[in-house]
Amino acid sequence: MKNLKIAIQKSGRLNEKSVQLLKNCGLDFENYKSSLITTVGNFPLEILFLRDDDIPGYVEQGIADLGIVGENIIDETESKVEYIKRLGFGKCTLKLAIPKDSSIQDIKDLNGKAIATSYPNILKNFLDDYKIDADIRLISGSVEISPGLGLSDAICDIVSTGGTLKSNGLKPFADVKNSEAILVGREGLEGNEILIELVQRIESVLLAKETKYVVLNVEKKNLPAITSLLHGVKSPTVVPLAEEGWVAVHTVITEDDFWDKINKLKAEGAQGIVVMPVEKIIL
Ligand code: ATP
Ligand code: ZN
Repeated sequence: MKNLKIAIQKSGRLNEKSVQLLKNCGLDFENYKSSLITTVGNFPLEILFLRDDDIPGYVEQGIADLGIVGENIIDETESKVEYIKRLGFGKCTLKLAIPKDSSIQDIKDLNGKAIATSYPNILKNFLDDYKIDADIRLISGSVEISPGLGLSDAICDIVSTGGTLKSNGLKPFADVKNSEAILVGREGLEGNEILIELVQRIESVLLAKETKYVVLNVEKKNLPAITSLLHGVKSPTVVPLAEEGWVAVHTVITEDDFWDKINKLKAEGAQGIVVMPVEKIIL
């Protein structure tokens, strides 16, 4: 079967995590920053390193079969690509922000105002939904300085912590779009065996990332209370300790309710709790 090509960001915020994800899938490749393309040694895949803005177009045209790119870029470029898997990294929000002392209070106050952004298409669609007619000014970088320069009344830009907004005297005003990195594919990949194998590996890596392996000691009399807290996983492994009347319990816990669960286990008599990362989970 013909090798698949996957496009990932060459350098920037998504590069490292995209490379790491593929490596965690057991793919063996050199991450040469200088080359555009590299071949995976132990899997029928080639990796293209591109600017993120070019990735959806390459996939849409079939120059690459797959791509890892932010949803913000997919939407902005309005590319026709298939969503294969949300990857849970590169999370950010495209937000409207206004100067701290702005008189704008409501989305409809944006009517007739100038808004600077690098995301004119997403912003236009958002404003159209609210039937707002604003003057969208395309700026490719440092959008956040434009109100201070008198170039716009508001901005629409990617925000993760809000620090850049604050240091430019701006405050977030409304969320336009949430984004994360997505594995996308060209049309016509359904049933491709290489893709099926790759997606299976990605899923097991993502599942493992959300999961911790936990070992704890507990007195036998407290075991029922402990195991009842651990429903959701197949019955935990229980191993006798050298000390009479004590056992060790081995189990996995998901990240989302991790601390809550650990506290409850402690309250029911769990001791010596050891938490370890999980590399892969194959269901
Ligand atoms: P390129 O050189 O590939 O064009 P870039 O400078 O346009 O890179 P980056 O800043 O590396 O892009 O961001 C890549 C993607 O990372 C964004 O499109 C977005 O999906 C995601 N992202 C996550 N957090 C942030 C953030 N705080 N600011 C900007 N982008 C973010
Ligand atoms: Zn870019």
